[in-house]
Amino acid sequence: MSILATYIHNIKPSATLALANKAKELKDKGVDVLNLSVGEPDFDTFENIKEAAINAIRAGKTKYTPVGGITELKDAIIDVYKDRFVCTRENIIVSTGAKQAIYNALLATVNEGDEVIIPSPYWVSYPDMVKIARGRPVIVDCDARTNFKIIPDLLEAAITSRTKWLFLNSPNNPTGMKYSEVELRELVEVLKKYPNLYILSDDIYEMLSYEDKPYSLVDFAEPLRGRILVINGVSKSYSMTGWRIGYAIGPTEIIKAMSVIQSQSTSNPCSISQYAALEALNGTQQYLLDSIKIFRKKRDIAYNLLSDIGGIECRKSEGAFYLFPECSSFFGKKTPEGGVIENSNDFCGYLLQEARVAVVPGSAFGAEGYFRFSYAVSEEILTKASHRIKEAVEKLK
Ligand code: PLP
Repeated sequence: MSILATYIHNIKPSATLALANKAKELKDKGVDVLNLSVGEPDFDTFENIKEAAINAIRAGKTKYTPVGGITELKDAIIDVYKDRFVCTRENIIVSTGAKQAIYNALLATVNEGDEVIIPSPYWVSYPDMVKIARGRPVIVDCDARTNFKIIPDLLEAAITSRTKWLFLNSPNNPTGMKYSEVELRELVEVLKKYPNLYILSDDIYEMLSYEDKPYSLVDFAEPLRGRILVINGVSKSYSMTGWRIGYAIGPTEIIKAMSVIQSQSTSNPCSISQYAALEALNGTQQYLLDSIKIFRKKRDIAYNLLSDIGGIECRKSEGAFYLFPECSSFFGKKTPEGGVIENSNDFCGYLLQEARVAVVPGSAFGAEGYFRFSYAVSEEILTKASHRIKEAVEKLK
């Protein structure tokens, strides 16, 4: 009999992390791979933040902290949101990345068989996290014609008496698309009718918004306020993916239960990282504003380059640092070695082999026929990668 729990056979490792590792392995072997599979900014953590962490170490802030985070950081989070909604320290938990906050929320609320609605394309980890919590992910395929966003009819059709959560992620990973105020208000109208349904608003890319100001569901959902769990963090906006600081803001009942789980598993998030995150939120925002401008420029460059490649159809994204181009026109075509491209996995495998460009197949995000292209790299790499992709796809017959 296997030592492993039965449910573990149902869980997949993160496809994006696996691909990033594969690209890194090739690079370490000396292969000139251009890695566009990454889910993190390409620039270093801002200087003032690094300095704050060094000062925290020197000041001996190296011990256990309260499980749910230091009060200074909670107060800084309250301050960030003060013009949008009122929250108290009891509404906040700081965790080891936004990922842990989402995971703890599920463990704290999901009973066996409870359903979680996940619009697809989705961030790779959502369905497996739901499964680990013994829930049932209910994947709702969202059409490219609505820019991959869930619309009221689809949402309503997916809701059952077992639905516990709706997951919303805007700007979205992998598509980079952002819900408009009107679209969010339309979803709120549906959600108002289902008082037992909670909404997890994953706003981790909120600040990386290129067409308008940052906002999220909470800004237009006053009647749902008691049923929204906001997920955010410093990983993406402040280029702090390795520091592992994320947070959740929501009903005290849920936050308390998440704290219990955190207290019996990982305890507090890294003390030094918390002081670094404190500086990220309280310190100058100039670096963030500058990086938004840089990302917008890279988005435009990447979009123009990819749109220029025959057979690839690209939509202009509005946030995060991803494009999600369509590659299904290559399905059925033959590679120079005689293999046939059957799906997005084959297509990305071919690009890695032939073009030495790592991108992530849409299937990893529940959307066959597409691939995720991260433009959080230098302009030089963007140009090189696009040229290599162009050359490689021209060889498909
Ligand atoms: N949510 C989404 C949509 C993400 O893309 C990611 C990271 O890739 C996370 C959450 C997790 O963020 P963190 O690194 O803070 O755990």
